[in-house]
Amino acid sequence: MVDHPDKYDYSRAKVPGPLTQEMEAKKLEKKRAQKAQRKQREQAQREERQRWEQEQQEKQRFAALSDREKRALAAERRFAAQLQDTGTTLSNISRCWHCGESLLGRIPFHYLDFSFCSTACLQTHRRAQAGHT
Ligand SMILES: [Zn+2]
Repeated sequence: MVDHPDKYDYSRAKVPGPLTQEMEAKKLEKKRAQKAQRKQREQAQREERQRWEQEQQEKQRFAALSDREKRALAAERRFAAQLQDTGTTLSNISRCWHCGESLLGRIPFHYLDFSFCSTACLQTHRRAQAGHT
């Protein structure tokens, strides 16, 4: 069949393909599969490395934050979760009593029942209060 490919109608005679050709095809297929596997492995390694680098960056970034910023970040995350849970809207987040700045993700400054975004706002408010009384 290999030596005389056109001599007989092999398909009508239901002769299976020539062995060598079949073996060649199988070998090629195996090679192709191996190559694909290697590519997949390399891709996975690249992604793994990228994740690792991102994690390192995130770690350094977080470590560089002040305690206050870390706490604010945690508060922000809690608040975001709360927003999702309750469907709270922007109109009822707590705000600085003096300037109206959103206190979302901040550690507000308190005195009495009031919350402020900054000590400056707190002091301005306190001074105004003192002026009234
Ligand atoms: Zn303020």
